[in-house]
Amino acid sequence: MLIVVAGMPGAGSSTVIQHALKLLRESGEGFASASSPASASASAGAVGFKHLNYGDVMFEIALQEGIVKSRDEIRKLPQTTQQEIQRKACDRIAALSKKENIILDTHCTVKTPFGYLPGLPAESLQKLSPRLFVLIEAFPHEIARRRSSDRTRERDVEDEKSIEEHQAMNRAISMAYACLTGAPVKIIENHDGALEKATTEFAELLTRISQNSV
Ligand code: AMP
Ligand code: MG
Repeated sequence: MLIVVAGMPGAGSSTVIQHALKLLRESGEGFASASSPASASASAGAVGFKHLNYGDVMFEIALQEGIVKSRDEIRKLPQTTQQEIQRKACDRIAALSKKENIILDTHCTVKTPFGYLPGLPAESLQKLSPRLFVLIEAFPHEIARRRSSDRTRERDVEDEKSIEEHQAMNRAISMAYACLTGAPVKIIENHDGALEKATTEFAELLTRISQNSV
């Protein structure tokens, strides 16, 4: 099974995933993150999920091929180069998803110099066959502030209006993804000071899915 969790840079998708898996591990729900094999902690009826970041897989490929030095250079590469790496990464992820349950941390669209690039074009959706799309959202002013305080990345500086446009594009394309796959779209809000609420909501969703009640 593969679940897509998408959020624009600064929405906090990676943080919500990490915190939810930690919460489930600590509460003995039998979920696992990348650092603990699914089989090690799986309890009766529960399903282990591995947290996999699409950007990590793309960066690994681009690094091996000597195309970039940092992950934030990927979205500035020529269109066809990005699409080629995207396809290679998709094949790797699809192969992994045959063996284990995956939470795929990625973006609905990537903002590039030549426009919004679909993170999951039809060919990728067919290969990955997601069960559910989860969108992690925050207010544009929260995203702008989080980006400006993130020293670990070369985040794009964008005004609130363009962040709002990007988030609207992500919502729109997520419903196209839903149409192409039949999988539903769940929106989880991750506002400042409310990470615990977002984490709990996502953890409960994973529990329901593992019990096959979603
Ligand atoms: P992240 O750390 O999630 O922001 O990912 C790093 C970079 O990987 C992004 O800035 C994009 O250039 C690229 N990336 C991640 N997911 C996708 C995707 N589904 N399609 C194309 N590029 C992606
Ligand atoms: Mg992330």
